[in-house]
Amino acid sequence: MIAASDEIGRRFAEIHPAFDPQAALVEANRCLYCFDAPCTAACPTHIDVPRFIKKIATANLRGSAVTILESNILGSSCSRVCPVDVLCEGACVLHRYNKQPIEIGRLQRHAMDYFYRSGRRLPFTPAPDRAAKVACIGAGPASLACAVELRKRGYGVTIFESRPLAGGLNTYGVAEYKLRPADSLREVELVKSLGVEFRFGVNVGGDVSLDDLERDYAAIFIAIGLGPPTPMKLPGEELEGVVDALRFIADYKTAQTIPVGRKVAVIGGGNTAIDAANAARRLGAGEVYMIYRRSEREMPAFLFEYEHSKLEGVQFRLQTQPVAIRSAASDARRVGALECVRMELGEPDRSGRRKPEPAPGSNFTIECDMVIPATGQSRFLDFLSKCRGVEVKDGCVVTDPATGRTANSRYYAAGDCVNGGREVVDAVAEGKRAGLGIVSWLCGAGW
Ligand code: SF4
Repeated sequence: MIAASDEIGRRFAEIHPAFDPQAALVEANRCLYCFDAPCTAACPTHIDVPRFIKKIATANLRGSAVTILESNILGSSCSRVCPVDVLCEGACVLHRYNKQPIEIGRLQRHAMDYFYRSGRRLPFTPAPDRAAKVACIGAGPASLACAVELRKRGYGVTIFESRPLAGGLNTYGVAEYKLRPADSLREVELVKSLGVEFRFGVNVGGDVSLDDLERDYAAIFIAIGLGPPTPMKLPGEELEGVVDALRFIADYKTAQTIPVGRKVAVIGGGNTAIDAANAARRLGAGEVYMIYRRSEREMPAFLFEYEHSKLEGVQFRLQTQPVAIRSAASDARRVGALECVRMELGEPDRSGRRKPEPAPGSNFTIECDMVIPATGQSRFLDFLSKCRGVEVKDGCVVTDPATGRTANSRYYAAGDCVNGGREVVDAVAEGKRAGLGIVSWLCGAGW
């Protein structure tokens, strides 16, 4: 167990440190300011990339930040957590000339850091207050983006959040070396400064009913994200030392102390599994194994995350499936080992990935004192079933992609509960569209 605060800061030095002013200028001047800007097209929020970079090149950092904020109110966190290699930087034309793409993410961060350092003056003022109010359920990126669109046009917004802090995964679930809670919370403060009301520690459906919201608000926006972790249904899952990946990440980011094992087994092959494995290494685990049942070709994590994790010292056990968590010889209540079986890959299944099959008689154990499952999250189906007229398919809320509107005209939705779990920038883009969809509906209804 280590103390948090300063120690966490020391252990989680950023992987993409800020540019110094001279380096930012040099990088901005490498941009070709493309007329058709494929980088802008590749950004889900369509930030005008050449425009904000040009403003950096002309030493207009506030103007650059305003350009970013006009499209993406979470431009600061997105500059740190976006998978830029597969979005804007992946689309940069300089690839065609065999040159390094422009470091768009770091330039965006350069402008946004200046914005927050220099007093966080809002680039827009809300229109005069209107009578209608909107309730947003969940205080993650989708709700923050939706709330801004509504407040800009004078509509009242109350965000209901069951946890004590806003920001969703930006605050609780992103690896510390990418985004710190304080950086997420300063964006929340920016949204708050527009007059958005936050009600923390409130469970909609429990503390406040949907009937109450339908009575008091003209529209309801659902951005509840994904549900609790899916149980692995492994023998021994209840042992001490088994900690779900999202809880593990949230605890080390926000708790005062955090226990970490000496030998840690992380189960899963996605980006959350990688974040948890890297965190375990940085928190002091001597050996960290990532257990994934298919090969690296099928791994859902981004390639750059996988490569980074290897540099952090994480050891990959591929084509390996856990079958049981075994208790320690010294303490039957605690984790002592993970029993696994080797997997062979057969024909592609419905997902197009080769189907793993256990190799008979290949069982073996990995000694460990901590197991971190990162094998997916369930959905809030109970809650969604109470949202009258809202259609749910395969665990996801069905919406009109252009407006975020559900089958019930007063209910809108966006973010992970709609898309099944994508990037922060996708949640922002969908939240924005839903905010504009609600505005359009409210105007049509005479509000
Ligand atoms: Fe600049 Fe690359 Fe975007 Fe062109 S594609 S505007 S070079 S960042």
